Amino acid sequence: KPVTTDMKTLTQEIEKFAEDKKIEIDTLKIREEYRKDFLGNVSHELKTPLFTVQGYILTLLDGAMNDKKIREKYLTRANKGVERLIYIVKDLDLITKLEVGGLKLDREDFDIVELIQNVFDLLEMKAAKKEISLTFDIEYMSPIYVNADKEKIQQVISNLLVNSIKYGHPNGTTEVSVENLIKNKVIVRVTDNGEGIPQEHIPRLFERFYRVDQSGSRDEGGSGLGLSIVKHIMEAHDEKIYVESEVDVGSEFSFTLEKTENSSE
Ligand code: ADP
Repeated sequence: KPVTTDMKTLTQEIEKFAEDKKIEIDTLKIREEYRKDFLGNVSHELKTPLFTVQGYILTLLDGAMNDKKIREKYLTRANKGVERLIYIVKDLDLITKLEVGGLKLDREDFDIVELIQNVFDLLEMKAAKKEISLTFDIEYMSPIYVNADKEKIQQVISNLLVNSIKYGHPNGTTEVSVENLIKNKVIVRVTDNGEGIPQEHIPRLFERFYRVDQSGSRDEGGSGLGLSIVKHIMEAHDEKIYVESEVDVGSEFSFTLEKTENSSE
């Protein structure tokens, strides 16, 4: 073989090797950035409720413990703070599993109408506390069978409904609907007439820890992970999630699901 060809091949190989290494290093750098960013956010998210709980405990130790009424009030609040911490840690646990380990789906055929009804039952009290009514609108009240990971889809519906209650106006309404879409797909919509989301925030809504009201002053604030969990779950299903919103009018989150092959039209 002529030497020149070899030299050319060799050069190409070296270049390719260098390029691969560069990509590897770039990937590592991005991962490192991501890790730092994630840890920074995690400690920030945990700090606020921890200081709140500590505040109540210190006040109790400072003498508030002697008054039965105050004692009960502060212990209840401290417990609320701990509940919030547990909630955040659970979400963190889930998002870590989703982002690090990849998401394994456990697909089965199930009735989406029944699943939505179950989530309604679970959230009834929460909605009633804020005098928000949950309504369900489907084309017909018969079962609609879909093929998906039931537990994860329950989490998606629950996260969307919890948000619609959290960011809904008192006396408002949240409506869920299931409609046949093209061919073998259905679309589930969760629509509220709550505070809505300014357009400029919409592209970033599904990022983890992203909140419209970054101050965190909102006492109902969750972990800021709800929608990123939703996005991961829908991506794993190869399905789409949409959002439309207008300030002071309301928001609509919708996602598609695959119907069970032999399910009726
Ligand atoms: P959080 O724990 O803060 O609710 P999410 O990831 O679930 O985190 O939501 C991200 C942000 O999107 C929320 O902080 C809120 O600002 C906005 N948001 C989500 N759902 C709604 C909704 N239905 N109406 C108005 N704003 C919403």
